[in-house]
Amino acid sequence: MKTKIVILIDALGFAIAERNGFAPSCLPAKARLRTVLGFSQAALASIFTGLTPDRHGLWMMYSFAERESPFAWLSLIPRSVSERRLWLRRLIRWKLAAVDSVRGYYSLYDVPREVFPYLDIPARGDIFAPRGAKGIPTVFDWFEENRVPSLVWDYRTEEALAFDELHEAVRGGKAAFYLLYTAALDSDLHRYGTEAPRIGEHLAWYRDRIERVAASARSVEEADILVFGDHGMCDVKSYVDIMRGVEALGLGIGRDYVPFYDSTMARFRIRSSRARNALGKLLSEQGGGRVMSPSEMAELGVAFPDGRFGDIVFLADPGVVIRPSFMGSEPIAGMHGYDPAEDRMYSIILSNLALPAPEMSICDVARLICPGIRSGSAGEAP
Ligand SMILES: [Zn+2]
Repeated sequence: MKTKIVILIDALGFAIAERNGFAPSCLPAKARLRTVLGFSQAALASIFTGLTPDRHGLWMMYSFAERESPFAWLSLIPRSVSERRLWLRRLIRWKLAAVDSVRGYYSLYDVPREVFPYLDIPARGDIFAPRGAKGIPTVFDWFEENRVPSLVWDYRTEEALAFDELHEAVRGGKAAFYLLYTAALDSDLHRYGTEAPRIGEHLAWYRDRIERVAASARSVEEADILVFGDHGMCDVKSYVDIMRGVEALGLGIGRDYVPFYDSTMARFRIRSSRARNALGKLLSEQGGGRVMSPSEMAELGVAFPDGRFGDIVFLADPGVVIRPSFMGSEPIAGMHGYDPAEDRMYSIILSNLALPAPEMSICDVARLICPGIRSGSAGEAP
């Protein structure tokens, strides 16, 4: 197999790349890359499995618990103890790692105590390692099965160090498959927005690093190089408060409904007809976004008829952020997690290989990384 070098830059948007002239000279082929609805977990799982979220099952970091929640024990802790207490957060983390075998990335964010016992974390595995997607084959499984020597750098390694190590490893011919993932650009875009000068500087730095890696690959043996992102980014223009209206309905959390407020999606598990009617009416009249219809969710590949990610899903319009939310209350300059059809949500893919079409989906990338991957088998997915 020809050596493959994959560089995955979180939030490398098509519009952001174009505006800043991001075009490493070693990668002449370019395509627009459509993302999936969701956040980075959904997009990364789609990239590595080649499947939409309703087929790989890892749509959101938090789902509503079907059976026993890994957080059920929290209802035994006195109500007076805040979820912000450090010892409690440590205990939650210890329990998830030691008892529930959660190896993937998750954050406790600002999820309230009263909601936790109704939640679950569907992504138990490490998506950057073999067997990371609940039995669904990923590119990492494929490389392991085919005994391809692989080296992977993920969010646990600081990006300058990761690029240095990648460069050294390629120069030494240490593996046949290299993957470097970095979330540093995503973090800058959230904090400073898409037009901050540092975004252009950051992209220029990536270009230099990529050209250096490509040059050392050429000096050893030719390699296929793919550089792409998982989604784009929108500058935040306004905020919408959904929580206040919902709380004013006087419904009981657990008894009537369970809410989950992401930054761009408010999801509700319905437990009484009273809640279904009241929330349905409130959200249909809510500005700044819309309730998604079942057919729209099916078209976007996020249909979960069992309601595990919500019986009602409200999606914010591009540039609108739901605040307050369980994601924290800090003001933010950029956000993603909007309708994938939105122009600014597109990512970009660049390569020294010919690409199959000028517009592709992130679900097409797994087959570019390893043409033999059995992503078709995922019809049986959860
Ligand atoms: Zn992000």
